Amino acid sequence: MKCPFCGEEMEHGFVTSGVTLKWQLKKKKVTINPYPDEKKGEFVFSYNPFGGAAAEGELCRKCHKIILSYEGPVTK
Ligand SMILES: [Zn+2]
Repeated sequence: MKCPFCGEEMEHGFVTSGVTLKWQLKKKKVTINPYPDEKKGEFVFSYNPFGGAAAEGELCRKCHKIILSYEGPVTK
């Protein structure tokens, strides 16, 4: 895939985390309630209770951008 910002070829890979990857409208501090606010459109897009939540994506080292793919909100 070509980077939509600079046109260079992007690297394929994965963004990984612990148990979840979430889309949130604001960066949140650690809270008692770790769940995203679904009423605002926030959602979990990768969940692995054993660790290893991951999303496939493309990286541009020149622009410092990562484009991720997700299949949809994960419901627990
Ligand atoms: Zn780029």
